[in-house]
Amino acid sequence: MELKVHNNLTRQKEKFTTVNPNEVKFYSCGPTTYDFLHVGNARALVVGDLFHRVMLALGYKVNFVRNYTDVDDKIIQRANELKVDPLVHAQRFVDECRKDMDSLGMLPATHTPKVSETMPEIISMISDIINNGAGYVVEGEVFFNVLKADHYGKLSKKDLDGLQHGQRVEVDTRKINPADFVLWKPAKAGEPFWESPWGKGRPGWHIECSAMAKKFLGETVDLHHGGVDLMFPHHENEIAQSEAANKKAFCNCWAHNEFLNFGSEKMSKSLGNVVTMRAFIEKYSGQVLRQILLSVHYRARFDWTDEAIERAIQDVVRIHEFALELSKKAPANCPTDSEALKAVEKFVLDFNEDLANDFNSAGALGQFFSFIRLVRRDVLVKDVSSELLNKIVYAVSHANTALGHIHKDPAALLKQLESLKGSGDVDASWVEGLIEERKKAKSDKNWKRADEIRDELKAKNIVLIDNKDGSIAWKMQ
Ligand code: AMP
Ligand code: ZN
Repeated sequence: MELKVHNNLTRQKEKFTTVNPNEVKFYSCGPTTYDFLHVGNARALVVGDLFHRVMLALGYKVNFVRNYTDVDDKIIQRANELKVDPLVHAQRFVDECRKDMDSLGMLPATHTPKVSETMPEIISMISDIINNGAGYVVEGEVFFNVLKADHYGKLSKKDLDGLQHGQRVEVDTRKINPADFVLWKPAKAGEPFWESPWGKGRPGWHIECSAMAKKFLGETVDLHHGGVDLMFPHHENEIAQSEAANKKAFCNCWAHNEFLNFGSEKMSKSLGNVVTMRAFIEKYSGQVLRQILLSVHYRARFDWTDEAIERAIQDVVRIHEFALELSKKAPANCPTDSEALKAVEKFVLDFNEDLANDFNSAGALGQFFSFIRLVRRDVLVKDVSSELLNKIVYAVSHANTALGHIHKDPAALLKQLESLKGSGDVDASWVEGLIEERKKAKSDKNWKRADEIRDELKAKNIVLIDNKDGSIAWKMQ
């Protein structure tokens, strides 16, 4: 099936191509490890994992690199406050991050390099940039000359003139152009440092991803991902550096996930409006967090609300009750129901089609819920041949390869979610919001969504009452 991806280089959805047939070189910018991650960071992680899984499910071989930024100002500052070694501090949060990724059911990346382990490659790339005339050294600091880049601004669509003159902060007078950026900086007293041809120091932020991509993927990558905030300057600078060093196109397709917002603003440590992944996962499970994040297209903004959490819990319960029921069903010696067999085959095709359409996980989940309804209604209630049962089990396992939405122990997860019941009263505005949405779904003839909403409310013991005047009331059973 042909994969299409919205490529931010062209701002268009395009047929996805790879340098080597069927083999994807994929890079995703990973976290800076100075503290526990929040659920906004989780969006970037889960979207990277979604791309990885979908490409595997569609039959690609994927070489996937996701880095850890373990050398950075924020890490050094936090470690100094705590009076610990910055690299020890960073490693502690690499380990914590790995635990959260496991809870989220993420597949391991092929390579997970750290800056501290990539210094020779970083230094060699900076030397290439200088030798190719795009970098210059001032007092032990190395800068990138943006005027030497091939079309600086081609990803973010920023105009270099505007960038040069729009600088509000006081410009470093050592720079040739105001928009030039740092490749290597000298270490201040007490900071970690590495030896380099320009003195003791450490890399600027952007060069690490250029060096790591080259080390594990080669000079040209097929797909590069990160949060939308990274498009400028980080990704723009990665392109400038890699193309100046390698004299080759750096990346053919750029995909960015939108923000997860809290209130009207981006969830972010610096704004202080964060929910940590760890706290959320401990209460609700990684599966609920994954469900929340997959139920919206990666290019759509997403508001973190209680309603979204409630909805995801119901969805996760539905998926895992189904997984349990299916695991208990034994095949019978009976003819295959050919209609049901065709419907299962069609589900796999429709599901793949959604995912191949710019990783539309929300659409694919919708297909999966229709599939659950079909199997429950037409198959699990009667005898089923081994041919049909095998096909269903294959379809579920294929869906799980692509979405990772089924926990390996459904019973344990259901128990955890069961324990949440009674921990809060039903939120009337949530129910009324769903009733409104159901009305709209019905008037749009979107019966699938209307049924989903009714089921969702029913699972919460809420019944709908159709009044004579056309209005709808609700009550707890
Ligand atoms: P950082 O640790 O800040 O470098 O962020 C790691 C990744 O998380 C980057 O890809 C960011 O774009 C992403 N990220 C941070 N905050 C959010 C958010 N609120 N919504 C979506 N992605 C985010
Ligand atoms: Zn990066």
